[in-house]
Amino acid sequence: MNFYKDHYDVIVIGGALAGLSAALMLADKGKDVLVLERHNLPGGLATSFVRGGVEIEATLHEMMSIGDKGNRLKIGQFFDDMGVDIDWLDVPEAYHASLPGIEVTLHPGFERFAKEIDTAVPGTFRKVLSLMRLCHTVYDSVNELSVHPMSKAKMLLKHEAFVKTAGYSAKEVIDSFGLPQKAVDLLSPYWIYVGNPLSTLPFTIFAVLMADYVGYGSKVPKKLSHEMSLKMAERAEAMGVQIEYRQHVEKILVKDGAACGVRTARGDEIHADYVICSAYPNKVYADMIEPADAVPERAFKVVNGRRIGLTAFTVFLLLDKPAEELGIKDFNVFHGETMDTDEIFRNYLGTGPYNYLTAICLNLANPGCTPEGTCILSITALPRVDGWKKVKAEDVDRVKHETAKSMADAMSEYYGVNLLDHALEVIIETPVTVAHYTGMFNGCIYGYMHDMQDHIVARLQTAEEEKIFSHLEFSGAHQISGNGMGPAVTNGRKAAKNVLDDMEKEAARA
Ligand SMILES: Cc1cc2nc3c(=O)[nH]c(=O)nc-3n(C[C@H](O)[C@H](O)[C@H](O)COP(=O)(O)OP(=O)(O)OC[C@H]3O[C@@H](n4cnc5c(N)ncnc54)[C@H](O)[C@@H]3O)c2cc1C
Repeated sequence: MNFYKDHYDVIVIGGALAGLSAALMLADKGKDVLVLERHNLPGGLATSFVRGGVEIEATLHEMMSIGDKGNRLKIGQFFDDMGVDIDWLDVPEAYHASLPGIEVTLHPGFERFAKEIDTAVPGTFRKVLSLMRLCHTVYDSVNELSVHPMSKAKMLLKHEAFVKTAGYSAKEVIDSFGLPQKAVDLLSPYWIYVGNPLSTLPFTIFAVLMADYVGYGSKVPKKLSHEMSLKMAERAEAMGVQIEYRQHVEKILVKDGAACGVRTARGDEIHADYVICSAYPNKVYADMIEPADAVPERAFKVVNGRRIGLTAFTVFLLLDKPAEELGIKDFNVFHGETMDTDEIFRNYLGTGPYNYLTAICLNLANPGCTPEGTCILSITALPRVDGWKKVKAEDVDRVKHETAKSMADAMSEYYGVNLLDHALEVIIETPVTVAHYTGMFNGCIYGYMHDMQDHIVARLQTAEEEKIFSHLEFSGAHQISGNGMGPAVTNGRKAAKNVLDDMEKEAARA
């Protein structure tokens, strides 16, 4: 029997969060959808692995944009609307900042957050609160404008704060509040969740990040991030989506400037009206389009004009005691030798030792995530890919162990306990692991860097001009909303919306 139908409305390449979100939205509108995933499981980076009989979260620190039941934010609402029922747990704090001369734990809720900064840096309450309120106003505008685009004149009237700040970096706007450096340092740690130093991070992105994480708090799925991908896949199949695993798409077939199908590594040629692709455009234009000479030079100019974002290096330590017995008190510690984000960004060009780390103890949000009497600590740096690309194959093992050891040592010093003495399992996830597991270009988890010339606002304006093939949409961290699991869902939905809008236009023309 043939695996495939003769024709689908849409083929989605990649069964991770972005691809599955697109598939759910299309199936919800009655479209006939095929998802092809190269791995034997859904989820891509939203996955887990098993060591020593324990299931371990592979990536997720915290999910943004979920919200509480009855008061959902946009990603939580999408899951609810699609019938993807996830058991969400609250993350107890925003973060603990451990920086030179600073040891402060901050909690979500603007007033509480501002009060806690004020306790550490007296006299800053009103300024921090008004900065947070500005972030929230911009966040509301971004949420509205991403659903209801409007003319520039109307935007200026209705979204003044958004328009006024859109051309400035996070550093420029924060500096305009005249806060002492220590307060600025306390406001900065989340920069790593988007991967741009504050001097080049558009304020719009900083505002969304702070409003969402600090304003509403974050959550984690009780059964780890794989709960999201498994339940999305299950719902998609219940809605009629065909999902095939271990199907690597090698080629996207185009004819007369439009995508019309794919070819898998097995040699199956499958046809569809539209293709949605999770692979990076860099890879698609260089390797995947058939015929290759259909790719215009303009395509390479578009992708080469962007900078690839950060990758990830994580050390997982399954520890032989509960967190409290090891002095681990906070879910999320941002630990740095400096909070100068330009300096950290330079340090991330190498392979370590890294001067800025994030340590997550998932048990403090999800007590049952490891067997009783143990806990899991993941220590992450988000380097740039450049340094790792220079490591020779014969040196990878040595460099990775040295880097991992330096990270475990730094956090051991912070907690005052030798973590490696308590390790039941040590697992090292490098940029190579990420590239190998997901096939992502250069192991990049963050898509293209947000930039003052190239971020959500600019990308919305240039999306049409940058379209190379009709009937081909991209979804994933490399698209308009950028990096992270929440944005991956948004990017998948956006790709599906583009397809649905196009179908409607073509039907009206016919
Ligand atoms: C250590 C670490 C920590 C992180 N922490 C967080 C966090 O706390 N919060 C957060 O929001 N985000 C976090 N992220 C980022 C987040 O995991 C990703 O941004 C998000 O999961 C990307 O989802 P995606 O669907 O775009 O792509 P991916 O998860 O990369 O999936 C792409 C999928 O496409 C498939 N695929 C690719 N090419 C092909 C092909 N040719 N044929 C068939 N299938 C193909 C792959 O197998 C994969 O399943 C973290 C990432 C890492 C590595």
